[in-house]
Amino acid sequence: MTAVVEARDLRKVYPIRRGMFREPAQLQAVGGISFTLEQGRTLAVVGESGCGKSTLARMVSLIEKPSAGELTLDGTDAVHPAASEWRRLRQAVQLVFQNPYGSLNPRKKIAKVLEAPLQINTELGASERAERARKMLQQVGLRPEYANRYPHMFSGGQRQRIAIARALMPNPKVVVADEPVSALDVSIQAQVLNLLADLQQEFNLAYLFISHDLAVVRHIAHDVLVMYLGLAMEQGPKKLIFEQPLHPYTHALLASTPGIGAARKGKRIVLQGELPSPLDPPAACVFCTRCPYAVERCRAERPPLRPVGDRLVACHLAEDWLARGFPEERTADNASLPG
Ligand code: SF4
Repeated sequence: MTAVVEARDLRKVYPIRRGMFREPAQLQAVGGISFTLEQGRTLAVVGESGCGKSTLARMVSLIEKPSAGELTLDGTDAVHPAASEWRRLRQAVQLVFQNPYGSLNPRKKIAKVLEAPLQINTELGASERAERARKMLQQVGLRPEYANRYPHMFSGGQRQRIAIARALMPNPKVVVADEPVSALDVSIQAQVLNLLADLQQEFNLAYLFISHDLAVVRHIAHDVLVMYLGLAMEQGPKKLIFEQPLHPYTHALLASTPGIGAARKGKRIVLQGELPSPLDPPAACVFCTRCPYAVERCRAERPPLRPVGDRLVACHLAEDWLARGFPEERTADNASLPG
């Protein structure tokens, strides 16, 4: 399979002003993320809000420029592309947003919305563009005659189908989907996820799928990247992440997911407290302020993201968890040092 996205140590830092006489603070939204995404595959990026997953999505979709690191899209350097490559790169990666109504211009008929990318990027005539738009509506499960309607005439699920159709009009290789079903009713979510899976097969698309909902991720992902405070905590094939997670944060996320947590054995890890401020993250393990298994070393030394079995984990105790199994889950109140 061909890699269509390659990210190496991607970083995004925002300067935050702190008054006239003080140096700006540095907010590290993404602190060095690496992954490879191949055609026909879905990488899900999960974590609580504020973990940096949407910033990562904006960098991959070329909305934001990384502060450091390398990003290759479809074989081309996407951080410093040649001017002649910009148009092709912009077509190669498309975005689907969380709110389908907010992302569609309410004054434009669906035909206009769908044809706009073709008008800008291709030489197709009006009738060919209209035909492509009608065909795409059918491919996302809508009637071609809907092209003459306005966004407000559709339900939330239909609007998200239209947003997906619009994203596919320029024939992208990568679709970055930022919480694409979280605004939809649960009954509609599965239909849209199935549609995304069908379209992936049909067009051999790569998806970077951003979500806080592990139940949704389980449905659609091939690989999973768990982020916390801008860093990767665990990264690997979905099966391993869901069936044998090795990072305490992954355990906590799974435990708190309806339909997954209740089915897991042992007591649940309950996430205590808030995400620390990204302006002042813990110097060592970034999860140590909330981790029920934290030991002295966790507060002194940052665990590197490294191979443990067939996935990557950033936890000092990951090899121990893998060799001897994860200790019985416990809360911060009754935690004791792992055996
Ligand atoms: Fe918890 Fe320590 Fe692992 Fe961090 S390194 S996740 S604090 S056990």
